[in-house]
Parts: sequence; structure tokens; C-alpha cells
Amino acid sequence: MKLLIAADMEGISGVVSWNQVDPKHPEYARFRKIMTGDVNAAVEGAFRGGAEEIIVADGHGGGYNILLEALDPRARLNAGNAAPLVMVQGISSGIDAALFIGYHGRAGHPLAVLNHTWDTHLLNVWLNEVLVGETGINALVCGAFGAPVLLVSGDQGLAEEATALISGIETVIVKRATSYFSAECLPPQEAQERIRHGVEKAVRAFKEGKGPQPFKLSTPVTVTIEFSSAAHADGAMRLPGASRLDGRKVSASAADAMAAYHIFRTLVQLSSQ
Ligand SMILES: [Zn+2]
Repeated sequence: MKLLIAADMEGISGVVSWNQVDPKHPEYARFRKIMTGDVNAAVEGAFRGGAEEIIVADGHGGGYNILLEALDPRARLNAGNAAPLVMVQGISSGIDAALFIGYHGRAGHPLAVLNHTWDTHLLNVWLNEVLVGETGINALVCGAFGAPVLLVSGDQGLAEEATALISGIETVIVKRATSYFSAECLPPQEAQERIRHGVEKAVRAFKEGKGPQPFKLSTPVTVTIEFSSAAHADGAMRLPGASRLDGRKVSASAADAMAAYHIFRTLVQLSSQ
């Protein structure tokens, strides 16, 4: 059994501020250590649950957050950006299932720490009629390769979002959001024990043929993005075939899940120029 551990940073144990996930800020060094600890806990849990091979994807910012020198030596690390599949780089290498560690709620979530979707100028993203965050977008890619997402770790807002999207998904809550910039946090030792335990349970269930199905949507897949300003929507409209739904909203249709993913990323890139 080969697993992908896809890691982001805003949902890592203790993170409540952009400073803590920003390489230019002194706080960042603390939290990349804790991020590596959360990932190692997932690696340990996955091996205990029956995994034979593990690829880790470093999905935050430039993709160089996890400390390679401190990573469990049984894992392999996909680092750097922009890897072709960014946050789930490695999913195309025969992965059986994925685990999302350090994830965060979608943009505009009423109670989820540092909630956003990809980039701060995206207000809402829909795949078909489903309002999604990074969990949904990356789960769609995993699903295209036949891999279910077995578990997410982050705050309770993320856990609710993931449960609504993927039935049977395991969730590990490492902090309880009390606002966008605050949470009641478990110390890393306790949070990582819960990650180890949750991952082991989810992987063991998967091995026994239980747990979530790969996340799929009916085709064609329509990607709709609401941007924070009409200027971003102007940029996104450079994509051939895109439609303007209103001042800030652009939509485009894709034949299948992977095309939808690439259209999403292209719309984001064009909107940023
Ligand atoms: Zn993120």
C-alpha cells in the first residue's frame, strides 16, 4: 500500500497567524518544526496501519517548509513549487489513498483559522454546484487517480467541511477555532498523538476495504470562481471559453476532473496578473 501525505501549513498544530506560516517572519522557524512533527506523526500512524510506502507533498507556499533532515527516513518528500500537481504532487505515482495534514477551511468559512482558498483574492470556488476549499480541489485530483482521501487534520471548521464533502472521512482536530485569528490549541505532543492514532485507524480501515470512496463529480465539471474584485475577473476572462457570470464571477467548463483542476489553476494565474 502506497500513500500520499499532502501537507499544508495553516492547519498545523498551534498555527493562528499568517506570521507563523511566513518564511520572512521569525515565528516561521518554530512552526516548520511543528509541521514536520505533525507530518512525522502521520507517517508513523500510516506505517502502523499497514502502509508500505509513503510520499509526502509539501504544499504550502514555495513547498520548502518541512525539514527534510528531520523527516521520518521511511518517507520521501516532494518539495518545491510549482510542481505540476502542487499540493498533491506524487498522486500520479500509483498512490492508493491520500491523507491531508495541516489543512484549513475554505475562504469565507464562518469559523476556521486562516480560512482561504488557494489565494486571498478568491472569495468562493464552486466545482459544479459544490462550494469547495482546498480540500475539495485536491480531493478531486486524488479522485481522478482513483485515490480516496482518508483523513484530514486541522481545526473543527476544516473537519466539518471535509465531513460534509467526503462521507466516512476521518478527522483529527488539533485546535478549536474561536475566530479567524484565534483558537484553543492542543500542544504539539498531544496533537501529534491524535494524528498518529487517527491515521493508523483510517489506514487500517482502508486496508480492510472500509472508509471513504474516491471523490468524484459528474462531468463535464464546471469551475466557477468569485474574485475579490472585477479586475481579477477581467484577467481570468483571458481564458478561451470562460464566461462572465457577473462583475466578479467567472466560470469555465471542463471535460473531466483533471481538466477542471488545470482550468482552475489557469483562471487563478490569469486573475493574478
Ligand atoms: Zn492552503
